[in-house]
Amino acid sequence: MSKQLILALSKGRILDETLPLLADAGIVPGEDLGKSRKLLFDTNLPDVKLVVIRATDVPTYVQLGAADLGVAGKDVLLEHGAEGLYEPLDLEIARCKLMTAGIDGSQPARARRRVATKFVNVARRYYAEQGIQAEVIKLYGALELAPLMNLADEIVDIVDTGNTLRANGMSPRELIAPISTRLVVNQASMTMKHVRIKPLLARLEAAVQQRHAADVSA
Ligand code: AMP
Repeated sequence: MSKQLILALSKGRILDETLPLLADAGIVPGEDLGKSRKLLFDTNLPDVKLVVIRATDVPTYVQLGAADLGVAGKDVLLEHGAEGLYEPLDLEIARCKLMTAGIDGSQPARARRRVATKFVNVARRYYAEQGIQAEVIKLYGALELAPLMNLADEIVDIVDTGNTLRANGMSPRELIAPISTRLVVNQASMTMKHVRIKPLLARLEAAVQQRHAADVSA
């Protein structure tokens, strides 16, 4: 097994919040990730490399051991299942909520509710737990359009400020899960590379704690 640690980062919104946290933890990419088309990067730590991939691919890379560690949203982990992954640290960034939402003032009337979402596994589990019959329709984007176009009675989506919903005449209904970004670790790596992973985890944990202390005193 390689002595290097590969840390998989989620592209996009989470990356913008992850990089400052990594910097606080003393982990700095060798070059500007935003400006490069590369996917694999050195860092200032000789035994740590970064890969920058689609958020939904992070659990797969870590589960199969292509990466030792990963940074992924809890929404992505819930949808993936993340079996066999350790989740030792809440990085407490990119906070949002996974919620059901519908058109303002309307109630889902159909006995069998039609639900549009990117999170089909989460949605199926949630409605089954609630004892609600649901036909879950997979969409890849613009979920807010689905109820307006009569494609669905309800959506399951990420809500942060609620502005996207409001702009489309919709409102949040039920909270499915509060979401934040987590550090995940491959189980075999945790055992085989413990000596390398432990200090990295400690650095990240200290960076999260430091932010807490700063928030409390602000
Ligand atoms: P908002 O209008 O602030 O409620 O943001 C809602 C939209 O932003 C959602 O449809 C998501 O696609 C996206 N979004 C907000 N926060 C996050 C997050 N932490 N992770 C991923 N996507 C997010």
